[in-house]
Amino acid sequence: MSVARLKPVPASEPSGGGFYAAAEKIYPREISGRFARLRQAAVVVLLGLFYGVAWLDWHGHQAVLFDLPARKFHLFGLTLWPQDFLYLALLLIIAALSLFFFTALAGRLWCGYACPQTVWTELFVWIEQWTEGTRSRRMKLDRGPWTAEKLLRKTLKQTLWVALAAWTGFTFVGYFTPIRMLGAGVVSLSLGPWSTFWIALYGLATYGNAGFLREQVCKYMCPYARFQSAMFDKDTLIISYDEARGEPRGPRRRGAAPRPLGLGDCIDCTLCVQVCPTGIDIRKGLQYECIACGACIDACDDVMEKMGSPRGLIRYTTEHAMHGRATHLVRPRMLVYAALLLVASGALSWSLVTRTPLILDVIRDRNALYREVRGDKIENAYALKVINLDDRAHSYRLGVSGMDGLELSAPTELISVPPGSVSNIPARLDAPAARAGGVHRIALTLAATDASGISVRENTRFIGPSP
Ligand code: SF4
Ligand code: SF4
Repeated sequence: MSVARLKPVPASEPSGGGFYAAAEKIYPREISGRFARLRQAAVVVLLGLFYGVAWLDWHGHQAVLFDLPARKFHLFGLTLWPQDFLYLALLLIIAALSLFFFTALAGRLWCGYACPQTVWTELFVWIEQWTEGTRSRRMKLDRGPWTAEKLLRKTLKQTLWVALAAWTGFTFVGYFTPIRMLGAGVVSLSLGPWSTFWIALYGLATYGNAGFLREQVCKYMCPYARFQSAMFDKDTLIISYDEARGEPRGPRRRGAAPRPLGLGDCIDCTLCVQVCPTGIDIRKGLQYECIACGACIDACDDVMEKMGSPRGLIRYTTEHAMHGRATHLVRPRMLVYAALLLVASGALSWSLVTRTPLILDVIRDRNALYREVRGDKIENAYALKVINLDDRAHSYRLGVSGMDGLELSAPTELISVPPGSVSNIPARLDAPAARAGGVHRIALTLAATDASGISVRENTRFIGPSP
């Protein structure tokens, strides 16, 4: 599908010959059906995860916590440090490639069912429907004068919206500050200024995006809506109105066959437009505002059933299928996306499986190249930084190799490091003066004594007098 086919259709024409048309408020009609149920399930699962996971604990700490001050990301049993930036980079690459792959395969699945803008808007619309009623009642309420009932309904809606937005802001910040500590701060009114600011900011963003801006975010702010058509082709799943079957549109009695009346299957009831959360008419062709939510399919299927016509006048299909040609699931771009996805996922899995939760940094003492010590020996000093990346404490044994007669004079004890901590350890090595002349490449090894497979090796130099 070419980009040119995605034609923007204005919600309303500019009035008075001006260049600016104010956005018309959209009152999406309530809808039930297969895709509505799917969207509801997605909202429950995704928001359930968002609000719930923040409260999970894992081995004594919050299961998912992006601890920015300590520069540590806790993901269940995995603790990532700034040195683990590679994993984050790979994760972002996999997310981007998955988006490309699934968009090429099934169109805007992400927009219709999983995008935060969609799921929170859905939740806000449920509250709106619960407090203000059906589409026609909401329109009447907005048009009518301010009565006690209107004031009550609007106040209830706003109160629930604000509470939900505040809870969302609180939960979001709870992924960056331990959420129980944050909750205690809120209850005792002792929250710091930054936590208060971020909760208010994210709460405000939720309220503004899901309560007021809604489809405007998809239409005017979201960059994905702009470039997603580049991933479409004639085999991508899209939502389409079957023009050949539906036109010419026009009303008819229930059960009456359309063709003898010179009509197509569309009865021009406009229900597909009324349920659309972005307010478009899918009968005008695929438009970039369409988030592929399937609401118009549910509405039209319902109408078709009532009229005694087959369902699917609006349906998920491909451009090739619409023109009676075969749809190809396997095509070059899918293979390229799948191969890249496989490589990135494989690299991430491999690096996670082979990851050693231990880092050893060795820095030579800069004050003296070497010292002569008792016993006719030459000594070199080092500063070791031992970083235990694991979520439990470990004891490590230091070892040396690479030179005849080289011995460790300090530390002589095991090195104990608490979980997720750094220990700075001074170390001294010595070697007989007769063998120590010149520069020698040596290696320090650090191995956990209480866990197999945790060991690292770091190369450095041992320097003695010039031979
Ligand atoms: S819901 Fe179906 S029948 Fe009604 S206007 Fe839309 S396409 Fe036509
Ligand atoms: S046209 Fe249909 S699928 Fe597209 S956004 Fe509107 S209701 Fe959803």
